[in-house]
Amino acid sequence: MSDLRRLLHRTADHAADYLETVDDRPVSTTVTLGELRARLLRPLAPGGEDDETVLDELVRDTDGGLLGSAGGRFFGWVISGSLPAALAADWLTSAWDQNAGLHACSPAEAVIEEACAAHVLDLLGLPADCSVGLVTGCQMAHTTCLAAARNELLARRGVDVERDGLAGAPRLRVLTTRHRHSTLDRSLRLLGLGAGAIEEVDTDAAGRLDVAALDAALGARDEPAIVVLQAGEICTGLFDPFAEAIATAQRHDAWVHVDGAFGLWAAVAPDRRHLIAGFEAADSFATDAHKWLNVPYDSGIAIVRDAAAHRRAMSTQASYLVFAKEARDQADWNPELSRRGRGFALYAALRNLGRDGVADLVERCCVAARDLTRGIGALDGAELVHDPDLNQGLVAFPDPAGRDDRAYTDRVIDEIQRDGEAWFGGADWQGRRVMRISVVGWRTSPIDVDRSVAAVARILGSLRA
Ligand SMILES: *Cc1c(COP(=O)(O)O)cnc(C)c1O
Repeated sequence: MSDLRRLLHRTADHAADYLETVDDRPVSTTVTLGELRARLLRPLAPGGEDDETVLDELVRDTDGGLLGSAGGRFFGWVISGSLPAALAADWLTSAWDQNAGLHACSPAEAVIEEACAAHVLDLLGLPADCSVGLVTGCQMAHTTCLAAARNELLARRGVDVERDGLAGAPRLRVLTTRHRHSTLDRSLRLLGLGAGAIEEVDTDAAGRLDVAALDAALGARDEPAIVVLQAGEICTGLFDPFAEAIATAQRHDAWVHVDGAFGLWAAVAPDRRHLIAGFEAADSFATDAHKWLNVPYDSGIAIVRDAAAHRRAMSTQASYLVFAKEARDQADWNPELSRRGRGFALYAALRNLGRDGVADLVERCCVAARDLTRGIGALDGAELVHDPDLNQGLVAFPDPAGRDDRAYTDRVIDEIQRDGEAWFGGADWQGRRVMRISVVGWRTSPIDVDRSVAAVARILGSLRA
């Protein structure tokens, strides 16, 4: 065996050792920050080290410092493991090491991205002539879509943002609710619009955008406006009322952008599609493949209805670059030039799952989230706060001594994380401290649900004792 082959086989063994045992080890980390620094912040050997040593020590020194998010009992944030087919394709992506900026640098990768775009639009039920950019995550999908929105809205007012920037441009309004994801604010900062452009529109008691309030806010001033709607709020998985909100926004010539980092995939599951009804009429959509599609990081998707606006906002030209005439150049649709061939892993996931597989993955996660939330919510010492329609549930742990529910809920979350059988995180929802329950991983089975509920029951019992 060549040295290279031996190294790659050894890597495959390390990876398989990890993934075959991830469900048997603590989901939480078991080392302190100090220990990790002592292991990892070491001086470089002046002459370097051989590749096997580097690899073996990487595995040794990170042990206990990795969260078990690749396994079946990780329910923190909105984080999933990877489908085996997507993981394998991701390894090949690194082996092939294509620069996926232009068709000329890797024709196969460029065509793979065309295929990914077509499949994603078809799965979601969006028009086939929408444009698609494969970006690092939903954060950059927002930035990409909203760059197109900004430039197009201001072009309609006679400002050429691609040439002149924002000098002399009218202020753009961004209407959304207080339940928006924090990445929206950052995208607006990056785009020179500023988080201060946001105007919060009222919601109903559940947290959904109030369409009459949106109508009034848009009607109050004749200024270019973007409306950002939520498909899957981060705590509850709630959806804004798309059909009415989009019709209202469009009556006022606003651009509608949908944050569907995970929730957009509800469109593929027959039993969940009603939650997102009407979303297709929006102007742009941001989502992730590294969340519910279980593609390795990083993998986000930007979708824009007005392909010309998308391309004008992103495209770049230089004499030494070779632009394709017929083929699709990725650099026209995403904000990077040199970039990873992230189409390969997405393509593998889509082929592996097919439409029914995506639908089944979404549905299974929704069922697991419901069972977990109801199971934990019914325990002595727990309270169900949000029974999920999608894959995000909420529970709280009222202080049995009646003193401080917030502190007690955080204490229970800490104890669960320390215990290591399952992993959940905390959040604030409607003024309360809650424990979030998020299920997006293909590995989560009914057995994982039962084990996780049992772990929480055990911890609540020991805290009362
Ligand atoms: C995760 C998430 C984002 C940000 O996505 P990244 O992939 O982390 O950039 C935005 N919006 C929502 C609703 C999310 O859940």
